[in-house]
Amino acid sequence: MAKSLLKKRTKIVATISDRNCEPQFLARLYEAGMDVVRINSAHLDAGGVRKIVSNVRSVSDRIAILLDTKGPEIRTTVCDEPIPFMKGEKVKVAGNADAKTTHGVINVNYCDIARYVPEGAFILIDDGELEIKITGREGKVLTGRIENDGTLGSRKTVNIPQVRINLPSVSERDLTFIDLAVELDIQFIAHSFVRSKEDVLAVQRLLDKRSSDIKIIAKIENQQGVDNLEEIMDHSYGIMVARGDLAIEVPYERIPGIQRNIIARCIEKRKPVIVATQMLHSMITNPRPTRAEVSDVANAVYSQTDALMLSGETAMGRFPVEAVKTMARIAAEVEMEKEQYVEMPAGSLSGPVSAYLAKVAVKTSIRVKAMVILADTVNGTSIRNMAAFRGINPVIAHCYSHGTMRELALSYGVIPVFVEKKMSADEFINTAIRELLSRNTLRKNDIVVVLAGNFSRGTGFSFIEVGTVDYLRERAGITEKELMA
Ligand code: PGA
Ligand code: MN
Repeated sequence: MAKSLLKKRTKIVATISDRNCEPQFLARLYEAGMDVVRINSAHLDAGGVRKIVSNVRSVSDRIAILLDTKGPEIRTTVCDEPIPFMKGEKVKVAGNADAKTTHGVINVNYCDIARYVPEGAFILIDDGELEIKITGREGKVLTGRIENDGTLGSRKTVNIPQVRINLPSVSERDLTFIDLAVELDIQFIAHSFVRSKEDVLAVQRLLDKRSSDIKIIAKIENQQGVDNLEEIMDHSYGIMVARGDLAIEVPYERIPGIQRNIIARCIEKRKPVIVATQMLHSMITNPRPTRAEVSDVANAVYSQTDALMLSGETAMGRFPVEAVKTMARIAAEVEMEKEQYVEMPAGSLSGPVSAYLAKVAVKTSIRVKAMVILADTVNGTSIRNMAAFRGINPVIAHCYSHGTMRELALSYGVIPVFVEKKMSADEFINTAIRELLSRNTLRKNDIVVVLAGNFSRGTGFSFIEVGTVDYLRERAGITEKELMA
């Protein structure tokens, strides 16, 4: 057997902090299997973002960068020092973004909080570390009772399960980060707390105004997002199952089912999907994952997700490289034995002919036990269409722009490479075969599926050619002698 071209087909997104983003460190993560770097705007400023982006680019131009905006998120304001609370204590909660939080009043950045939170509701702070039961209202201030002992620091997350939040889709702070994302030409904006298509469209309008082709990933992290999944998918490039907040906003026992459903719908709609948060959480402090974590990662891969995400594990954990390696190992193992191919209609994303050929190429590659599929793409659509079938063989996607190359870093089983635009199908095959041979991983008799287009029309794929490495080499007019040289 020839060596596999890919260590694992499932992609890995790793969160990186500006406090730990040296090029050597990033290179080790990349080597271990990181495909996409995520920058969380909640925790850093513009200088930090610039630093991470420039370091990532110095490591490889193939790593995609994803920036999280915070969206309609509620947080507490700053406090002078961590405040201890005891179960049973009475507290006030008010919507005053400019006031500090004290033991007497917990202030949040949502000025209408008193109007929308009813008596009997629960407010969960810092991922549920501190729980408050709302007991009443005094004018514009809520009164409540602390439900557990806990300490409150500055700018902590606030979740109010089942309560609709009327915050605008994009905050002032988000806007500055969107401008920065456009300026730095990153690939993805992951918008937090998407409630409906309106939240996605608000970001899309800002991007359109700036003539940016940054792609939007909608983070599903509350009940409204789950309820409006279909319309949100229709307007987003991809979806993140943001389990951190989701497991607080909806009963946590529903998360596995929601996750499976979102992945399945994304595959059908050919949208890249990321499973996020606490996948290897214990590895923040331990070199080995828990059994439950191993199963959780495996479960997401069995469900055929495009990508898995690491948060604190790589942003501030003690074992970041081990975490990426662990994730890659589990993914590779599951990929070897799980059911491979997702049966579904060819779709019409890239035109009926192109879409059907993409499906046939994946099926053929499995039936004839091919090693790889070679294809080219202008904007990635046809490649994502193919990736959705979750075939066994990696797809080497020849991209005519660096942006498309990096976008495809998020898609299952795709190895994106950049090439100059080709004039004819023959030229494409010639280049693709040379690129393949340069990898030195295949043998003469390994079978390759080539999917190429009608180059003059730009209508996607128009033919499939199947042959051994040797046959395709000859067909492309490359002599063995030439290769030896
Ligand atoms: P966050 O998003 O890390 O930005 O909160 C992911 C999640 O909520 O799971
Ligand atoms: Mn979140």
